[in-house]
Amino acid sequence: MKLGFIGLGIMGRPMAINLQRAGHALWVHGRRPVTMDVLVEAGAVACSSAADVAAQAEIIFIMVSDTADVEQVILGEHGLMQRLQSGQIVVDMSTISPVATRRLAQELATRGVDMLDAPVSGGEVGAINATLSIMVGGKEKTFQHVKPLFEKLGKNIVHVGDHGAGQVAKACNQIVVAVTIEAVAEALTFARRSGVDAARVRDALMGGFAGSKVMEVHGKRMLDNDFKPGFKVRLHQKDLRIVLENAHQLGIALPAASLAAQHLNALMGSGDGELDSAAMVKILERASGTK
Ligand code: NAP
Repeated sequence: MKLGFIGLGIMGRPMAINLQRAGHALWVHGRRPVTMDVLVEAGAVACSSAADVAAQAEIIFIMVSDTADVEQVILGEHGLMQRLQSGQIVVDMSTISPVATRRLAQELATRGVDMLDAPVSGGEVGAINATLSIMVGGKEKTFQHVKPLFEKLGKNIVHVGDHGAGQVAKACNQIVVAVTIEAVAEALTFARRSGVDAARVRDALMGGFAGSKVMEVHGKRMLDNDFKPGFKVRLHQKDLRIVLENAHQLGIALPAASLAAQHLNALMGSGDGELDSAAMVKILERASGTK
């Protein structure tokens, strides 16, 4: 199949490589040309704009940073809309606003182009090993058409509902992860300040109801004071901004997610945006005089 891939960062590049390894022809666009090198060496065609990708590929994947970036890739001066034709499919795998996603799907539909929103969870390791969880919004027929390609990228692939539903699922994912990181950080800080070995507390908790993937992975990072990302504070802050903006529009109270968002804001302000979001524990430590 003739595929396009736009956005070749931490996540996008290994995902594009997996599609290439599955035997598909690739047209790629990276804002920094160097990000295309590995793929081009393996036979992909480097394109100087998203529009050039749209001129060639049947299905075009996008994996950029934020809502405005996806809007630029699709609607911008050298964006996909310049060259898209009826029958092509755009699959946005970035984590962006569900409301903006529905708007973009409508815009693309005016050109006879179908869109899927398909944000992922599972991080860089999941992208490299093709074990991502993929949450998909859009038409069932389009989902079934693209599913074999998703299977080259991930393991747990769920068609959640219509346009935007994948982004809603991803927002839910980010609420649970952020609030759980906050809870784990509070528990381990409590253990430390009580003069108890926090590593043993974690061991004890892992087997019961308090055990979770976040307790396992982020809890370990907190104990080791090792905040190499992983998932960066900067991106988690962006995701909770999307959650809280949408909650504002919908009139929903999300007090726990709001608290976690404030702690991520504080980390950004203290220059910790490039650390793993397990660094939320640092805010509690500073506030309570814990080393
Ligand atoms: P990243 O390493 O910062 O990569 C983003 C890529 O998109 C960069 O190569 C960037 O180009 C490109 N880009 C951004 N804006 C663009 C624009 N307007 N036009 C063209 N290219 C643009 O980020 P990432 O970690 O791969 O994350 C990508 C998406 O996946 C985000 O929405 C993130 O929230 C989501 N996600 C990430 C993880 C994770 O663990 N990292 C997990 C799940 C989901 P430059 O190289 O020029 O900056």
